Amino acid sequence: MPHPDLDSSEIEGHAPLEASSGAPVLVDRLGRPLHDLRISVTDRCNFRCRYCMPKEVFGADFAFLPRAEIMTFEEIARIARLFASRGVRKLRLTGGEPTLRAQLPALVEMLDAIPGMDIAMTTNGTLLKTMAEPLARAGLDRVTVSLDSLDDAVFRSMNDMDFPVAMVLEGIDAAEAAGLPVKVNAVVRRGVNDHTLLDLARHFRGTPHIVRFIEFMDVGSTNGWQMDEVVPAADLVRQIDAEFPLEPIEASYEGEVARRYRYRDGAGEIGVITSVTQPFCGTCTRARLSAEGSIYTCLFAAEAGADFRAAMRSGATDEDLLALIDATWTAREDRYSEQRSASTAGLRRVEMSYIGG
Ligand code: SAM
Ligand code: SF4
Ligand code: SF4
Repeated sequence: MPHPDLDSSEIEGHAPLEASSGAPVLVDRLGRPLHDLRISVTDRCNFRCRYCMPKEVFGADFAFLPRAEIMTFEEIARIARLFASRGVRKLRLTGGEPTLRAQLPALVEMLDAIPGMDIAMTTNGTLLKTMAEPLARAGLDRVTVSLDSLDDAVFRSMNDMDFPVAMVLEGIDAAEAAGLPVKVNAVVRRGVNDHTLLDLARHFRGTPHIVRFIEFMDVGSTNGWQMDEVVPAADLVRQIDAEFPLEPIEASYEGEVARRYRYRDGAGEIGVITSVTQPFCGTCTRARLSAEGSIYTCLFAAEAGADFRAAMRSGATDEDLLALIDATWTAREDRYSEQRSASTAGLRRVEMSYIGG
């Protein structure tokens, strides 16, 4: 169940501190605390979104991780418990497509046993119709559903598997019926779906669901990213504001990735995630665990960090694993988005489908 997040305003300097919960607060080399852990539960997906898993690369003969290399639920829960003892209060399940992982509610139940933990999931929504209820019952607290367009032809082409919009909308309805707060993520790609975004805003205005528009990012090295395909979030906000007047509002907590705007007529709010045009590395408090058990301290990491699966399978104690967490986080100095430039363009980067965004 959710718990008030650690108050980052208490954190100064780089020395280990004690949070109100009694857990030590780890800070990295840039003074950023560790608050969130994103857990990729599978590297597989039933979509082939061109900006993430293009078919030319993730085709029929692509070698996904064999079962034995994927972390078991017991291993994931053990790592999550250890991260919790280092101040993590928020877990996000992701993938690939997390709902493809068999028995996912059983994992959620294990994670929900960690006191004070907020458990979220990012999903393409295709399996929520049947899974929302069991996941909510198991202790899932909230869900983010990715939906890039309400235009069926545009959406089918973006997911490149001919999945219709209607199926995702049914998933969103099922999540709402199961009592899960829903956010909707839309990646914006110039010339692909940017002409359909006002419809998305219009559709979810007046509902409790918050749409968040995400600037197309240069994650991985297979999606053919070009700067001229990024629609700056400021342009998007102007476009929506012209139709439905908006005003900026405060972040709901320190380190929130989305900038928030509310409709002046009281019909709800939207968010924009400005990773390219206005990076937010300074408040990035997230670690990422890949499906095979490596820790990444940045979405744009070139190399995997500590290999928790190998450590656990060779008999590491909890103390050994805590030392790995401490060493990884205190050495962290990633701030890729702030450094993005011509010189970073050719660098090798982990694929988004591997660590889940
Ligand atoms: N399969 C799930 C889904 O699509 O929601 C979870 C994993 S997906 C990698 C997590 C989020 O990353 C999705 O909202 C997706 O739209 C976003 N994403 C993937 N590739 C991206 C890119 N190149 N730029 C921006 N966002 C991206
Ligand atoms: Fe799959 Fe999500 Fe990547 Fe699309 S964004 S290919 S749904 S992992
Ligand atoms: Fe965090 Fe890396 Fe993204 Fe910066 S580029 S916000 S450090 S994940």
